[in-house]
Amino acid sequence: MKRPVIVVHGGAWHIPAPLREAFQAGCRQAAFAGWEVLLSGGPALDAVEAAVRILEDDPVYDAGRGSHTNLNGEVELDAFIMNGCTLEVGGVAAVKRVRNPIALARRIMESGEHAFVVGAGAEAWAEALGIPLCDPADLAPLPALIDIPTDTWTPPGMQLPSDTVGAVALDMEGNLAVATSTGGTPNKRPGRVGDTPLVGCGAYADNTAGAAAATGWGERLMRLVLSKSACDLLVQGWAPQMAAEHLIRQLEQRVAGYGGIIIVDRHGQVGLAHNTPNLSFAIIGPEEAISSGTEFRTQLLAGLNSA
Ligand code: ASP
Repeated sequence: MKRPVIVVHGGAWHIPAPLREAFQAGCRQAAFAGWEVLLSGGPALDAVEAAVRILEDDPVYDAGRGSHTNLNGEVELDAFIMNGCTLEVGGVAAVKRVRNPIALARRIMESGEHAFVVGAGAEAWAEALGIPLCDPADLAPLPALIDIPTDTWTPPGMQLPSDTVGAVALDMEGNLAVATSTGGTPNKRPGRVGDTPLVGCGAYADNTAGAAAATGWGERLMRLVLSKSACDLLVQGWAPQMAAEHLIRQLEQRVAGYGGIIIVDRHGQVGLAHNTPNLSFAIIGPEEAISSGTEFRTQLLAGLNSA
């Protein structure tokens, strides 16, 4: 029997000081929700879905409620889930009336019929599956949060902020899973889809390797297929922390990209790295899952990492 681990993140960018506590609290709450599933012997898939649902419901993150709007002032949501045991995937993109896109992504995955559905077709399927559609206004950013200045750090070309959410988990059976959800980048063109729901880019999970979730500038992250690349490194024997640091260096050096990644391997070892000023995250697992070294390991349960 494996000792379970869950890692969640709430985005990698320059998190404004007034929002930092809220970002940490949300990640902690989401990780605990997933942890409860894992502790009761539940599947990693349920744990990552439970964690991401909490982050989607929390308006401080760019996922579900409180997401950024596109150039037309509309919220368009993307989400993805992957079962590391079967390699099944489910994704949705550009949905405007689904309050928890991760739940729809899961149902699509489990349908066995299709893997990735977008826009109005995804919404129609949600209804057919009995997932009620919401008023698009329910997903819009809260006025109180819009007014918080997103301060000084602006990497060239990147549209800030970047507060997508993701979770990776290992359960007692040794199964791995990943889930991600986002409203995408602020003021994106209608129909734009980033890395988050793309298999291998924003997320990947494979029981023979590990599970990874990425966040940041999607147009750059997808060029490196970052999350699948992480799993490939794990298969080659890389430690998750080394893999995370290597990939974020590659992101910067090869494609001038910015972002972060969280990884758990099949042994329950954790890695995370980012080249943005902050990464909000929470980790729950046995202490030895978090091997020695960099700053984040001193904040076992939750933290707001600073580069
Ligand atoms: N990667 C996401 C996107 O490009 C944004 C983020 O991670 O916050 O849509």
